[in-house]
Amino acid sequence: MSRTDEEILLLGRLRPGAAREAHRTVHLFVLPPQGASCVTTLCGLCLRCADLQLLAEPAGMPCEGCLVGAPGPPPPHRDD
Ligand SMILES: [Zn+2]
Repeated sequence: MSRTDEEILLLGRLRPGAAREAHRTVHLFVLPPQGASCVTTLCGLCLRCADLQLLAEPAGMPCEGCLVGAPGPPPPHRDD
């Protein structure tokens, strides 16, 4: 699956109690369609929406696989 620049990336991890603390790394995923029951993270995991805790900003332990798949900064703007 390829991503586009218009897709919205979200941060989330398994909610407290849904997994052991060591497995609650913070993943990146594209905003799923309305009504979706799960999300696919950039590292390839399928996580149930009901088990997710969304984060407004980076916190906790990041998932290395998701960081590798994360887009870089936008290219600098050039006027010429
Ligand atoms: Zn991940």
